[in-house]
Amino acid sequence: MATTYRCVCAAASILRPEALAPGLSADTCGDCHGHWLAMDDYRRWVANQPEPAAADDTDLPALRPAPATEDKARACPSCQRWMERLRVGRSPDFRLDRCSACQRVWLDDGEWAALVAAGLTTRLGEILSDGWQRQLRDADAQARREAELRARHGDACIDELARVRAWLATQPQRETLLALLRSGW
Ligand SMILES: [Zn+2]
Ligand SMILES: [Zn+2]
Repeated sequence: MATTYRCVCAAASILRPEALAPGLSADTCGDCHGHWLAMDDYRRWVANQPEPAAADDTDLPALRPAPATEDKARACPSCQRWMERLRVGRSPDFRLDRCSACQRVWLDDGEWAALVAAGLTTRLGEILSDGWQRQLRDADAQARREAELRARHGDACIDELARVRAWLATQPQRETLLALLRSGW
């Protein structure tokens, strides 16, 4: 007999299998419509999907905010450990809950649809990886640095600096030009 799981929502309903996509089923709550997806099932499904377009690492998707959910850790429906909340994109409020011990992901109602809309359904493994999560943190740090610089020097100054930097990057003699800029001629 298959194990039964109770939902993370207040109704704590028993989860029943439901298709997320053709060939992919997840244990689903009839009350909150959240999905409890086993990564093994997901990986089997992904292996049969067409190859996704090559990922551009510098272009993290600007995702529509997912439906508002409580921003607090939830207990895994299988083992009751706290699940990690992992960000999907730059939007801080779109997070998926994962239990790495059980290798399962909790998707709130609308989150799978948001992944579909962003073309990310075949990249869930990548999204949940340390590399993706680190990239999001790095992008945040970069945005904070730029905001600080803009606050200190003003937008006009930073825009001009960015323009000069972009131009310098195209110049074969950029080191010479930089030296000229520092020391004059
Ligand atoms: Zn529920
Ligand atoms: Zn678990």
